[in-house]
Amino acid sequence: MKSIDLTREQVITLADLTAAAQEDTTELRVSPTAVVTPSALEFTDQRRISIRRGAEGTAAPAAGQTRATTGATHDLFTSPEAEAVKEEICAVGRKLWQRQYVDGNGGNISYRIGPNAFLCTPTLMSKYDLRPQDIGMVDIEGKQIAGARARTSEILMHLEIYKEVPEAKGIVHCHPAHATAYAITGRVPPTCVIPEYEVFIGKVGLTSYETPGTPEFARTVIPFAKNHNAILLGNHGIVCWADTVTHAEWYAEVLDTYCWTLMLAAQLGTPVSHFGSDKAADLLAIKKRLGLPDPRNEFKECELCDLPEIPTSIAMQPRSCETAPALDSAGIEAIVQAVTDRVVAALNARK
Ligand SMILES: [Zn+2]
Repeated sequence: MKSIDLTREQVITLADLTAAAQEDTTELRVSPTAVVTPSALEFTDQRRISIRRGAEGTAAPAAGQTRATTGATHDLFTSPEAEAVKEEICAVGRKLWQRQYVDGNGGNISYRIGPNAFLCTPTLMSKYDLRPQDIGMVDIEGKQIAGARARTSEILMHLEIYKEVPEAKGIVHCHPAHATAYAITGRVPPTCVIPEYEVFIGKVGLTSYETPGTPEFARTVIPFAKNHNAILLGNHGIVCWADTVTHAEWYAEVLDTYCWTLMLAAQLGTPVSHFGSDKAADLLAIKKRLGLPDPRNEFKECELCDLPEIPTSIAMQPRSCETAPALDSAGIEAIVQAVTDRVVAALNARK
């Protein structure tokens, strides 16, 4: 294998490659953060030159450690499991685009392939056009450790979910229009309408808005990740996690179709009918057997069915237990005190 080392470059262009590559070059080594331009990528594709991201060449390896780590990362990144997941991610990307859940270069997909290794889609690519060689790999802090294309900036949000939920192995983020319509109004759909939705999603989480791609945005999902496999991202889109990327995409479909169906029903001029808490309890039992999360298993004080206050409405304000962590006794005491003070003040005012 003839390798060329461009780990000192931050941007690798076609000109760099044509100057450095020989007829027998089979590998290009670049730094973990380097950007490889599209024409340079095309050149590596045509010449079947594999791209390896690693720190070698930029500093002296510490007693062979860097080489060993890079080698293990490379082996994981090119393992049969990783190659199969890369294909699966591309298939999921095409489904998302075909269902109109991702516009432009929107949306991203990731998979936990190891305790500190996550395959993910690159930035600035339509999910329809993804090829296995476009998929990269990052560590738990979001540092890119493999792959030719720069990682999506939204990976930080995926990683917060992976840190919170050990069961999460595949994550899909997208912008489906009907679910996003709820996300931009700060409302969630009511529950206890369609059984499949109850079993696979149920109560959906809703975050407040933060600038996409920032650590602040990433952290907005933390309070919801464990108890919700689908979250509406305030003024943005949705994110779903599951045991595989395919299943995470299914949940995006279930959520968006539910929101769409409610919107269609709202046009019929007749209130949507709801089934009762007893039926909801049956569905929650099925859900538990499937190992799917639902905050209604944790928050006993919440009623099982969320019904809109106005019968014809299909949107409701998230209940307090979905928007904030449970209050401790000091918090409850403070609320009781505040309410008491206001009641006493009102009574005194009447005197
Ligand atoms: Zn987005």
